[in-house]
Amino acid sequence: MAKTCLKCGYQRKITEQTPDYMCPACGVIYEKYEAKLARERADPTIKNQIDSVNKKADNFWIHFTKALDFVKPEYFIP
Ligand SMILES: [Zn+2]
Repeated sequence: MAKTCLKCGYQRKITEQTPDYMCPACGVIYEKYEAKLARERADPTIKNQIDSVNKKADNFWIHFTKALDFVKPEYFIP
């Protein structure tokens, strides 16, 4: 049975040299990717949580570099 990759949509051929658990086109492990999709489907908030954590991390660096702007060089003069 021809397997279609859920990630890139590539349909593998019988003649494919790549192991049958792996997509010849993008190299994804079908089972792992399907499990990942199933997890995200079961809990769509996981992706949102990851996104919001990433945004927080971005904000942290924005605030951090802004904070550095307030530290004037003269404070370092003994
Ligand atoms: Zn693929």
